[in-house]
Amino acid sequence: MFGYTSSQKPAALQFSFLEAPPRLDASPLRELVRRDAKNVPGVYRMLGARGNVLYVGKSRQLRTRLLSYFRLPWPEHRHARMLRETAHIEWESSPNEFAALLRETRLIRAHLPEYNRRGARPLDRWWVIVIPRGAIPRLRVQRASMVASSRGGAASTVIGPFAHRTPLVSAVRVLNDALGLRDCADRVPMILRDSGDFFADDAAYARTPACHRYETKRCLGPCVAACTHAEYHVQLTRAQSFLRGTSDAPQEALERDMAVASAQLSYERAGWLRDRLAALETLNAQLARVREALQRPSFAYRLPGVAGDDRLYLIRDGRVIGESAVRDVDGIDHLLTLEARPVSTATALTVDALEELTLLEHWFRTRAEESSRTAPTVRELL
Ligand code: SF4
Repeated sequence: MFGYTSSQKPAALQFSFLEAPPRLDASPLRELVRRDAKNVPGVYRMLGARGNVLYVGKSRQLRTRLLSYFRLPWPEHRHARMLRETAHIEWESSPNEFAALLRETRLIRAHLPEYNRRGARPLDRWWVIVIPRGAIPRLRVQRASMVASSRGGAASTVIGPFAHRTPLVSAVRVLNDALGLRDCADRVPMILRDSGDFFADDAAYARTPACHRYETKRCLGPCVAACTHAEYHVQLTRAQSFLRGTSDAPQEALERDMAVASAQLSYERAGWLRDRLAALETLNAQLARVREALQRPSFAYRLPGVAGDDRLYLIRDGRVIGESAVRDVDGIDHLLTLEARPVSTATALTVDALEELTLLEHWFRTRAEESSRTAPTVRELL
């Protein structure tokens, strides 16, 4: 690890949180990069005066990349503005670009740096269904990068990733309607029948929400004490089971309604229900593909490193679960031990796993030649 601590900290460093960050002199940083950085793959961190991580980046050519920051027009370019807030730069070399990318992803996840949140990342391409923790949660469709950037994201269940938002939103709406789950904004107050909220006035219990979903029996009405906590969670569990591929309850409910509508010669309603069923079945097919990707057998990946430092990576369930230098006997033994473990049957992701899944997907999709460096087992690459 290399680094720099400015010896020219201006008096303005004793700023309060309400003041603008100090504009630091970048020339000592430039001199240090010129002197010590090498053109090798690696990861760098820009640190603010309080040691806060402002930005994490990676490059195949660290020195060239770091020097390029000092040529950016100030104040127009946001990275030039960031440089004026930077008191320290740290960098570390990586054995190859893949290792640098992986390290960058994990550092961004760990620090959620202010200047990374707005940048383009592979996760920006994808959408996910999020089930946050909470008393009366609702299913959300969000951009994967937003979930990864949110501090609450790690506690949520994440289903996906999906390529297109619009059909996903439609299918989640159908799922919500079929199971009676809320889809309103978080700010809408919830009053459960068993909430024990003795101080809620009678009017609160008696009120009807200004929401057609309750009127049309598409929501259990947790906002008007029309259901208990347990009743809501039975339906939420059904939604989770559907998303995990272990239950067809929502489709069965729609099919029953369709049969009733047909029997009553209500063909318009039957057609409407058929469209809803089709939306759910499309989502079901997409979910099956996601599950298949998550449960792909593990494979090993060998990359040439700088100065003969070849590396082996063990990838399983869309994650890099182990890595080792090829010439490190103990490290390779550890990879073989990891490889011998049973394959998981994961059907949902954590945010960390989602980041790596999309990273790997992007890496191998945009570099078709890399597949020739993979093999089903570690031994085949030794
Ligand atoms: S009925 Fe109440 S809880 Fe359900 S979606 Fe409407 S406002 Fe939200």
